[in-house]
Amino acid sequence: MAGFAELGSEETAARNVSVSPSDRAPSPRAASPSRSEIMWSRLVPYTLLHLSCFFVLWVGWSPVAVWTAVFLYAIRMFAITGFYHRYFSHRTFRTSRPMQFLFGVLGASAAQKGPLWWAAHHRYHHQHADLEHDLHSPSRHGFLWSHVGWIWARSNYDTELHSVRDLSRYPELRWLDRNALWVPVGLAVSLYGVGALLAQLAPALGTSGGQMVVWGFCISTVVLYHATYTINSLAHSWGSRRYDTRDDSRNNWFLALITLGEGWHNNHHRYPVATRQGFFWWEIDLTYYGLWVLSKLGIVWGLRPVPARIRNEEQRSGELQERAPRATRGPSPSSFAGQSTASRNAARRNPARRTSARRIATRRTSRTSA
Ligand SMILES: [Zn+2]
Ligand SMILES: [Zn+2]
Repeated sequence: MAGFAELGSEETAARNVSVSPSDRAPSPRAASPSRSEIMWSRLVPYTLLHLSCFFVLWVGWSPVAVWTAVFLYAIRMFAITGFYHRYFSHRTFRTSRPMQFLFGVLGASAAQKGPLWWAAHHRYHHQHADLEHDLHSPSRHGFLWSHVGWIWARSNYDTELHSVRDLSRYPELRWLDRNALWVPVGLAVSLYGVGALLAQLAPALGTSGGQMVVWGFCISTVVLYHATYTINSLAHSWGSRRYDTRDDSRNNWFLALITLGEGWHNNHHRYPVATRQGFFWWEIDLTYYGLWVLSKLGIVWGLRPVPARIRNEEQRSGELQERAPRATRGPSPSSFAGQSTASRNAARRNPARRTSARRIATRRTSRTSA
């Protein structure tokens, strides 16, 4: 997306959080999760996908099928973290309009709905992180709800287009969001075709259409689901806190490895507009490395860095901070993305300044490179 000036100031960064004022008003979404919120019909395909993994007992395995599963896990995790999260949700870099659409298609192949749905719900999470209206806070709603339950909630089913006006103005993205399901369906069908073809042309590989679907789609997607979900559940409850953000976000090297960098979640909540989430060289962030390569190829550009002042702020590496009682905490960190701790504290003390800070943070950057 164009329209992002190179990082010149933290205020610029705060502006580019890309949220609208209406996002900040509490909505009747799944703030108080209950069984009545759940659309049980949505559990049917979800359960069937999990059960379909047991077909491996019939179709067996082969190196080509297992490597296909690994490849599709990695490429789709990259699409979720690099494109759905760091591009569509936070717009931390820019690209062309055709590539924007391609990024959306790649993300949709992960079977996590469309880019607009994903970005809208994720922006909402940042605005209410671990507060009452957070969609998936383990401390508020329990582990299971934060991990997967919230996805089935009736109130979380639709795409809140008002939260993503900067994206929904592209008709091709709206079309993709409505038809996102067909991308993973097409992937599964293609895998069957490739497997059947290999069985005919290269029987020595020992694969088949069914085997490629079970490994390349079913197993790969189920593992991908739960690895992604850990960022909503475990990354808000398990790990260390470098920054004293007003939520429960954590840094966790294991989660960072399996999610290609998303495990540096406390870093991310402190400064969500940066492209990289591993703020230091030892914080492995494979998604960032991939995006950096894409930038060298000219496919993306304008990767937003982490200002040194933010990176070095309040370092308490490796320490688990004792949490203050929720009632004493201020607004969510994203309300003050890009502000220093001092100014955030001053804003909390001074409501007028807080309003001003919010106005800055909610000012939208709607231009894109397309
Ligand atoms: Zn979070
Ligand atoms: Zn985020």
